Amino acid sequence: MLDSLRALYGDKPAARIPDNWRDRLPDPLAYYSQHVAKLGRTNATGWAQGACPFHDDHNASLSVHVAGASAGGWRCFAGCGGGDLLGFHMRRTGLDFKAAVCDLIGGNR
Ligand SMILES: [Zn+2]
Repeated sequence: MLDSLRALYGDKPAARIPDNWRDRLPDPLAYYSQHVAKLGRTNATGWAQGACPFHDDHNASLSVHVAGASAGGWRCFAGCGGGDLLGFHMRRTGLDFKAAVCDLIGGNR
């Protein structure tokens, strides 16, 4: 089992994703505030709206879940889809899963 994991993820410690990576993702409000233009006020259910970075958005089509226990999700109502914070980061940066996780928990973006 361990050998197959090594084959899959490589042997370098720096290339491994820690088991608790989900707990180490940035705060959704801090992250989305930084990367979503014109982010508005958070509503009663914990969602805020802003300009979608994935299309030429003039209408704040993007909703991001920035408060509450299950915060982190996003959805674009103009057809870009939706997902979790990691998916947003992957799409925004073009990084693959592992690189995006390392980037996020490294804390510098
Ligand atoms: Zn969009």
